[in-house]
Amino acid sequence: MRLILLGPPGGGKGVQSQRLVDERGLVQLSTGDMLRAAIEQGTEIGEQVKDIMARGDLVSDDIVVGLVANRIFEGDFANGFVLDGFPRTLGQAEALDEVLELRKIGIDAVIALNVDDSILLDRIKKRASELANGPRADDNAEALKKRLEVYHSQTRPAIAYYADKGVLRTVDGMADIDTVAANIAAVLETL
Ligand code: AMP
Repeated sequence: MRLILLGPPGGGKGVQSQRLVDERGLVQLSTGDMLRAAIEQGTEIGEQVKDIMARGDLVSDDIVVGLVANRIFEGDFANGFVLDGFPRTLGQAEALDEVLELRKIGIDAVIALNVDDSILLDRIKKRASELANGPRADDNAEALKKRLEVYHSQTRPAIAYYADKGVLRTVDGMADIDTVAANIAAVLETL
């Protein structure tokens, strides 16, 4: 099963992707994780994206499309994958279509988690206090404000792209983790 999971920052994409990994054996392809790993390893890409990420802006389409394309081409994915946090712009959505076409595979569902902006700051504060290695550089009020603006201005058009294609499934992401996981499972049942 190949899925795309989209939603606002702090909206639960990472946690829900991890559930899909644990319960269905999918491979999680998280561009945020790939970029954080690049920063950690001090690679050239890491150096390029460090400040952009810390302030809550989007990294260029070229960089993230390159990372995802490499992974999709080299990966074997017996049980499929879940793209977590990608695509985040219309350009990325179109580029992904090209990669999938070259690889001769399709996506089974695009799931968008719907979460009101008002609860995201609290969720991110909670995550910042819980992470073992300390808070992420972009888990602060100022960067979150930027990430939300970017989500509404740049990622919503990507979500609309999938809605127009008729492949978008929207899931209420406001409830607790188990309930949201059950809502996603219910959508997957219908595929
Ligand atoms: P995430 O872990 O998905 O919340 O992503 C953290 C940050 O990484 C974002 O705020 C962006 O700066 C960057 N990032 C992750 N995925 C993408 C993407 N698909 N396009 C552009 N920037 C991204």
